[in-house]
Amino acid sequence: MKIIDILNQKEMSLSFEVFPAKKESGLESVHRATREIAMCRPSFMSVTYGAGGGTSRYTLEIAKDIKDAYDVPMLAHLTCVSSSRETVRERIKDMIDAGIENVMALRGDLTPELMGTDPAGWDYQHAIQLVRELKESGADFCIGAACYPEVHPDSSNQKEDIRFLKEKVDAGAEFLTTQMVFDNNLFYNFLYKLREAGVTVPVLPGIMPITNAKQVARAISLSGSFMPQRFRSLVDYFGQDPDAMKQAGIAYATDQIIDLYANGITNVHVYSMNKPDVAKAITENLSAILGKDFGR
Ligand code: FAD
Repeated sequence: MKIIDILNQKEMSLSFEVFPAKKESGLESVHRATREIAMCRPSFMSVTYGAGGGTSRYTLEIAKDIKDAYDVPMLAHLTCVSSSRETVRERIKDMIDAGIENVMALRGDLTPELMGTDPAGWDYQHAIQLVRELKESGADFCIGAACYPEVHPDSSNQKEDIRFLKEKVDAGAEFLTTQMVFDNNLFYNFLYKLREAGVTVPVLPGIMPITNAKQVARAISLSGSFMPQRFRSLVDYFGQDPDAMKQAGIAYATDQIIDLYANGITNVHVYSMNKPDVAKAITENLSAILGKDFGR
């Protein structure tokens, strides 16, 4: 099923994200976690793609497993910046062969090796080129792309960031998912600016349930996302008690999701990070709101 058809339905959607194992030895535990998350019956699941393509095989393997065994629509991520054109074309062919219908087209982060070289020599500089490559493949992919309510770190200002985002959408991205946001007002302001700029596709806010204090520092350094004082107080108070922190982090994410739904944002994406207990708790918290039987 195409993700865009899910997003365009009137009903609320909730999707979960997983990431592949770095090594073959970790693959079984990732499969177990993704299967348990799939049993929450999310609207769809996404599988990330390791920077540099190191885990590419596993991304497809996981996506295919969930799609075939659990009938959950799958979104497979693909990055381009650290890959050759030949490799990217091979990955696209692998996706077609695996029956993948939905692809998240990403640039990928710039590795230290790339940073020291001239971008003119790279096969891909930006995600828009991957969007075009996917369109030109001839396959009828539904293509998603990333966006940044707090501005991508490489951008000099938000206007420029939104201008490039609109080009990416015009090239064929049918929906957008945001970098993690901890303050819904940042998302609402961003959405307003996108609509003003003529970006009309569905935009999914990315919600990251923080369940341990260590994750906070990592999430901020990776995303640069703003942590509201309300969230900081919660981490300060409960951060030393793992069970309490987990419960508080899930409650905070649930509260964000309910606020989004209540403000007419029907599609929400959760960075569930291979944690079935977190996905289950959030689904349970929202069971009446989503009108679904948990764990069907
Ligand atoms: P782009 O769209 O290329 O944008 C990157 C920067 O370049 C922005 O500042 C933009 O304004 C600018 N730009 C865009 N087009 C142009 C242009 N034509 N000329 C000049 N500047 C331009 N990383 C992974 O490795 N694997 C994943 O699975 C993964 N999944 C992600 C999912 C989501 C929802 C998000 C938000 C991020 C994800 N990332 C992932 C991280 C992502 O790869 C990085 O944030 C990366 O730095 C930017 O990717 P992008 O696709 O947004 O790039």
